Amino acid sequence: MNHRILLAEKLRAAGISPTSQRLDIAEITLSEPKHSSADEVLTALKKDGARVSKATVYNTLNLFCDKGLLKTVVVDPERQYYDSTTHDHHHIYNIDTGELIDVNPEHIQLSVDVKIPDNTLPAGTEVILKVKCQ
Ligand SMILES: [Zn+2]
Repeated sequence: MNHRILLAEKLRAAGISPTSQRLDIAEITLSEPKHSSADEVLTALKKDGARVSKATVYNTLNLFCDKGLLKTVVVDPERQYYDSTTHDHHHIYNIDTGELIDVNPEHIQLSVDVKIPDNTLPAGTEVILKVKCQ
């Protein structure tokens, strides 16, 4: 139960009112460094007997993103993950299994030689290294 109190504090600190449903979703997505899809969150909630709609799950995940608790990783047009590690980092994505693994930014050196459009600032670089099973 102590764990939920800490999660409630984390939500409040981000300006989110910690309803019971939000806490359930926080428990799944924010308890440890993790990449979750909306479907995985929905499945985990239903396994615990929660009656929750897909729309509520999406709304809550998007709220957590807006408040900086999660960030999205779009690996292809049909697959998006919610990442509890919000600082800049890269990923290895297995296109066969859907597994997403964090990569320390120090392990990828990029040489970028492009001029960004006028009136813009660099806002980050994300590399997704795609792999498949042998
Ligand atoms: Zn990640």
